[in-house]
Amino acid sequence: MSMHLVTTTRRRFLAAASVAVLQAPLVAGAAAPGVKIERVDLFPLRYPMTGYFKFFSDAHGSSGRGAVIVKVTADNGVVGWGQSVPIPRWSYETLQTATIVLRDYFGPAVVGLDALDMDAAQRALDGALAGGFSTGMPISRAGLDLALHDLLGKLQGKSLAELWGRKPGGPLTLSWTLNPRTLDEVDELIDSGWERGYRHFNIKVAPDPKFDVELARRVRKRVPDGFLWADANGGYEPDVALAAAPQLADAGVDVLEAPLKPNRIRGYQALKRQGALPILMDEGIVSPIELEEFIRLKMLDGVAMKPSRCGGLVSARRQIELLQRDDLMWLGSGLTDPDISLAATLGLYGAYELKKPAALNGPQFLTADVLTKPLTIKNGQAEVPTGPGLGIEVDEAEVIELMKKSSRPTKKEQARS
Ligand SMILES: [Mg+2]
Repeated sequence: MSMHLVTTTRRRFLAAASVAVLQAPLVAGAAAPGVKIERVDLFPLRYPMTGYFKFFSDAHGSSGRGAVIVKVTADNGVVGWGQSVPIPRWSYETLQTATIVLRDYFGPAVVGLDALDMDAAQRALDGALAGGFSTGMPISRAGLDLALHDLLGKLQGKSLAELWGRKPGGPLTLSWTLNPRTLDEVDELIDSGWERGYRHFNIKVAPDPKFDVELARRVRKRVPDGFLWADANGGYEPDVALAAAPQLADAGVDVLEAPLKPNRIRGYQALKRQGALPILMDEGIVSPIELEEFIRLKMLDGVAMKPSRCGGLVSARRQIELLQRDDLMWLGSGLTDPDISLAATLGLYGAYELKKPAALNGPQFLTADVLTKPLTIKNGQAEVPTGPGLGIEVDEAEVIELMKKSSRPTKKEQARS
């Protein structure tokens, strides 16, 4: 039983531990009682990107979308894959800290456990790292949660939907992300989505409501029938948000996501009371516990869901069920998820019959994948994978190749040396 960090990166603290030993996977459905989790391998890497997206624009993001690919192997040789997807400009988790917490805390907590006992695995993860306001390092944790689901499904020959006694659903309509730096860029950005079959658009807003209202007007004019979703990523002050919400509504916006930082509790209450737009939360909703509290505190009309934000699929499912219970809105979103995390997200949203276009913009911004057969995404629609587990097969040689590419020095670094 062991933990292995597979790495080709030049960063010293990620010093290579070992290279994964490939074992022949057994046929799906070959589960015997007492199958144990034998080892966890980690592959920190970066997916190359295209286009401008503010969260990946600085020194720690511009070299690609960081991710830790997680491979969990059972003692009968069956393998599950997952992926942690930190973004340092979106939350405090980074590629480096995700790698370490998975290597030294979350990974060792599940090695040796019964591969079929998801509850025991979740309890072990709860115990491995104390929380802050909510679950500790949820984005890191989600990678392991996803891998455990993939393993469970592969052991039982069941898709995510089947594990949950649901139908797979889908295909899911996607929304195209608009993050213009000037208003001149708006038309071209809409066109690039439109040409690829996208008919719904989410706009990145804040901190300047004047810019945002004009942006919303332009998009609404070009796309009169599309779902227009504004996400401020917590970037307004409460008084600014209260003034902006009616103007954004007037400009044709359908929902306003994360107008404030999540600790602005009275601000959220005031915006919901104002009722100019449905108010959704994103940042700050990590476990079902605070979601229940925030619902009771009347802070929100809904949530932009992301399993990668909330510790994985167990937590995300419970949150969707809470929202459905209270007839609140849930939208499908993500963290510019690459292939593995995206497959899990599609599986969840399909199984829970997501109705609105999903802001899953991995296919828009990322240019590589590590799957044997890529996910089917065309004309702004994504098929829900229906095979066992996450419904994908990961090509480990591709993973290693992408790690090698990720560890090459960037042009800036070459210039410095
Ligand atoms: Mg958001």
